[in-house]
Amino acid sequence: MDIDVSDINNKRVLVRVDYNVAIKDGRVAEPKRIDATMPTLKVLLDGNAKVILISHLGRPKGKKEPKYSMRPVVAALEASLRSHKVAFGKVVFCDEAFASPGLRATVAALGPKDILLCENLRYDAGEEADDPALARNLAALADIFVQDAFGAMHRAHASTDALPKMMKSVFGLLVTRELDVLGRLLREPKAPFVAVLGGVKVSDKIGAIDNLLKAGADKVLIGGAMSYTFLAAQGHTCGRSLVQKDWIEPVKKLLSVKGVADKIVLCEDHVGIEGALDASGAVPKGAVAVPVAGASIPAAICALDIGPKTITRFVAEIEKANTIFWNGPMGLMEVAPFDRGSIAVAQAVAQRTKEGAKSVLGGGDTIYAVSKAGLKEDSFTHVSTGGGATIEFIEGKVLPGVRAVAGTPSAIS
Ligand code: ADP
Ligand code: MG
Repeated sequence: MDIDVSDINNKRVLVRVDYNVAIKDGRVAEPKRIDATMPTLKVLLDGNAKVILISHLGRPKGKKEPKYSMRPVVAALEASLRSHKVAFGKVVFCDEAFASPGLRATVAALGPKDILLCENLRYDAGEEADDPALARNLAALADIFVQDAFGAMHRAHASTDALPKMMKSVFGLLVTRELDVLGRLLREPKAPFVAVLGGVKVSDKIGAIDNLLKAGADKVLIGGAMSYTFLAAQGHTCGRSLVQKDWIEPVKKLLSVKGVADKIVLCEDHVGIEGALDASGAVPKGAVAVPVAGASIPAAICALDIGPKTITRFVAEIEKANTIFWNGPMGLMEVAPFDRGSIAVAQAVAQRTKEGAKSVLGGGDTIYAVSKAGLKEDSFTHVSTGGGATIEFIEGKVLPGVRAVAGTPSAIS
């Protein structure tokens, strides 16, 4: 973080964090995203700043819906500060609007090392609309802005775009690390570089596959439902499995680029169910897992995971890698036994990391698959805090939230 500590003494520092956490029975169910901001908060509080935190939570769409209130975050924030041994004054919460005199008075009453947590940014429709009026109200609260919400930086919202363009802005430590690790992954991967992509939608990930190949990926292993669109592009039948028909042609085009087909590794076998998923996308009650021996999927079958031969092939590629990027589960891993492929990949990546490879993971469901495999996040070199932001960065896009801070005249990234 490019902040001169003498610069923040007694100053008001506005920090955009990603506290978009799950709330259960009025409590924060998982404090990981709060914990992830502790390095930045420690620097600011040790420097005697007055810290003002802003975040979104859920999708209230400009309405004050109580279930999306940031209030439950206060207790989790205090617990996280204590467990990370970060010295702080008091934590106050203010549910008043960003333009209100009440909020300004609360800010004026803050002392050094105090923290103010503001109410949900998305209670104000101006946040998602990238409204300069909201940004001006936010900017008026503080002397310096710190962008530490990596998971929100692929969106051009008031707190990620308009605001940093208006005031002295720097990246926080969480964002600095994300940009550094993901940037180096694309710029200087140590060969062999293996990427593992999964999940449902080819449309979400084809740009990432393309850019990973450009960045020098030696192999791209494709599992999950998106692999069926690739198989369909190669002329295989996919039965009742999820296929994005509109994306068969773009996939064919990608596969026809010289050298690409040799680098992309697809499923050689599958595990599925007889019949289709139900209307909500869930596995119907009583469905049993059936193996599919080859790449082509019979008409009656809906494939839900990579099969044992594919697991062996994917693990063999991971075992050779010095750099690994993984995003997207290999199957419908929420339901056993369709979690086997994802668990096998998680274990192989963790093992290879132990042997010295660099591994970078991203995606909410990918992180869930890691926990299902019984692995801790420190089994990997870097677990990204972004979902969409991580994928868009890997696609080679300049994130709006990066451009806005980097473009601030007084900011040095
Ligand atoms: P991430 O959150 O890690 O970026 P995605 O959201 O792209 O991952 O994809 C995860 C979802 O993909 C999971 O909900 C998983 O159940 C689903 N999925 C993966 N493979 C299949 C499959 N073969 N059939 C149905 N759903 C699948
Ligand atoms: Mg997901």
